[in-house]
Amino acid sequence: MRAIQVTAPGRVELAEVPAPRPGPGEALLRVLFAGICGSDVQTLRGTQPFASYPRVPGHEFSAEILELPADAEDAAGFSVGDLVTGVPYFPDGTCYSCRRGLTNACERNQTMGVHRDGAFQELLCMPLEHLHPAPGMDPRDLALVEPFSIGSHAVRRARVAGGERMLVLGAGAIGMLTMLAARARGAEVWIADVLPARLALAARLGAAGTADLTTAPIAQVVQEATGGDGFDVVAEATGLPVSFTNALEAAATGARLVLIGNGTADVTFGPSVLLKKELEVLGSRNSRDIFPQLIEQISSHRVDVSPLRTRIVPLEQGPQALRDAAAGAGDDVKVLLEFPPAP
Ligand SMILES: [Zn+2]
Repeated sequence: MRAIQVTAPGRVELAEVPAPRPGPGEALLRVLFAGICGSDVQTLRGTQPFASYPRVPGHEFSAEILELPADAEDAAGFSVGDLVTGVPYFPDGTCYSCRRGLTNACERNQTMGVHRDGAFQELLCMPLEHLHPAPGMDPRDLALVEPFSIGSHAVRRARVAGGERMLVLGAGAIGMLTMLAARARGAEVWIADVLPARLALAARLGAAGTADLTTAPIAQVVQEATGGDGFDVVAEATGLPVSFTNALEAAATGARLVLIGNGTADVTFGPSVLLKKELEVLGSRNSRDIFPQLIEQISSHRVDVSPLRTRIVPLEQGPQALRDAAAGAGDDVKVLLEFPPAP
């Protein structure tokens, strides 16, 4: 079978590799669609601190079940041919985080495509307990459930409520999906970025307002959107230092500020704003126990993620699509790899 392999930082190829065989309790899957995420790009760039090489990237996918564990009692209601997606995080289950139920922040978590091989391969083995069925769903939308879970977890962390005014900083895939998750709770969501094409898409997706930060300083956005009151919730989805300080400035008194963008650069800010405004600053990492709810939201058309998949390329073009993403080319929000149909 074929797999996209990052053989070393900066090097990616479509390789012929042996087909995997499922272990006990694992299903064999045929991958249908897989999304390219920022962390896959980091793996290619060599800036992903946890990646080792060679590595098959990918942790956002939809798939069809080809084989189930032989013991029928282990099949847990699944059938061959079922359309599924999978939770790509593998917590150890024993660390202090896991023992308190914070499995998404496991101290020894392994994420597919980073610490272990991921979904950019034709066949994939996964434990049944990681799989979620999505009968009848568009498999292209199903590949967006994992990034949607990141935004939804952040919205849950920030306790976003109906009628609240929220600002999302960063209109990439995660920022957009955070906006959709907050809108599903009835929040009024503004979104800010520096790329006009992304802001135009955000407006079509139902943003209450958009702000181009290349032309509007954050104070002006706060004035326009809230009459100067500030936002009840601010989500930071870029990881850039300037975006963190923008978030502090945009927050209303008593606001929740949730950090999703995983920045590496240091931020300099005066901490007194945290006291003066009595801010709650919340980190948000991965997601947990949320896939079924999101599959239901998308299947029932309460949330439409389809406009976010702005380009679909065949598997053969996957290495080039990864290189393009690493070069930062284009206005694409989410690029999906399409795998060939069953022979
Ligand atoms: Zn753990």
